[in-house]
Amino acid sequence: MKSSLLYGILLGVMAAPAFGAGIADEPIGKGSVLNENIFKFQLGHFEVYTLIENKGQGRAAILIGADEEALGKYIAGGVYQSETNTFLIRTPEQTILVDTGFGTTLFESLKTLGVSPDTIDAVLITHLHGDHFSGLQKDGTALFSKADVYVAEQEKEYWTKTNVSQGAVAALAPYGTRVKTFLPGELGSKLNDLLPGITAIAAFGHTPGHTLFQLESSGQKLLIWGDIMHAQTIQFPLPDVSVTYDTDPAAAAAIRKQVLEYAAANNIPIAGMHLTFPAIGNVVKEAGGYRLNDAK
Ligand SMILES: [Zn+2]
Repeated sequence: MKSSLLYGILLGVMAAPAFGAGIADEPIGKGSVLNENIFKFQLGHFEVYTLIENKGQGRAAILIGADEEALGKYIAGGVYQSETNTFLIRTPEQTILVDTGFGTTLFESLKTLGVSPDTIDAVLITHLHGDHFSGLQKDGTALFSKADVYVAEQEKEYWTKTNVSQGAVAALAPYGTRVKTFLPGELGSKLNDLLPGITAIAAFGHTPGHTLFQLESSGQKLLIWGDIMHAQTIQFPLPDVSVTYDTDPAAAAAIRKQVLEYAAANNIPIAGMHLTFPAIGNVVKEAGGYRLNDAK
């Protein structure tokens, strides 16, 4: 209750235009490295942790819309560094996970932080690709015994309705009625909270219901942007470049550019599932594209 009261008071005190302007003036916070797989970022009363699930390399062959010159400049040797990350959020009221990765080092990292999977209140799913939901269950048993699982209605519909993804069906099945669907709102518009201090924003393109989650505490915001980007060395400077994993590469590029512009213009730090450690930072406009100032 404490946080939602505070949130309500903040909204009540500040008129809408001043509220936006005030946020843009806030300095972007720096976080701290807890170990090689865990980064901590303080956002108002929220603690946000990057938890690395997997480190690897992506190949230039999956990139769409990059010519030889761009590849030579931004993708040295035809490969780029990539990670699979999940994010843990501790608010004064709840403990929340955003995506689960494959469920490999996630549980070890939670243990390091003293967080039992049974104390996770909610798991927010950005989209139903295996590298984002596979940690939800094992052998048909829910690994977060008390959590509600939140996924966009459009996303659940697309991947589970006609069994397009048996993996997604199997991941959600053990949660039964604790799977909660919602309709994400539009970027930049006034949104209702999905959970206290957390809103869901539509970013369709990578998948039909791909969702961003925006956190807000004490006037500070953070956008957890799921798979807006896979190959950061080329997609920050050239955001038109998409990947073969995108269900709709043109739509993915369009929303990527909108999100980058929104984050840069409003000075809202972002966090990404495939960005490299610490995978949280500030988007800055540069030479017709963007770059990332990481929060380390
Ligand atoms: Zn992914």
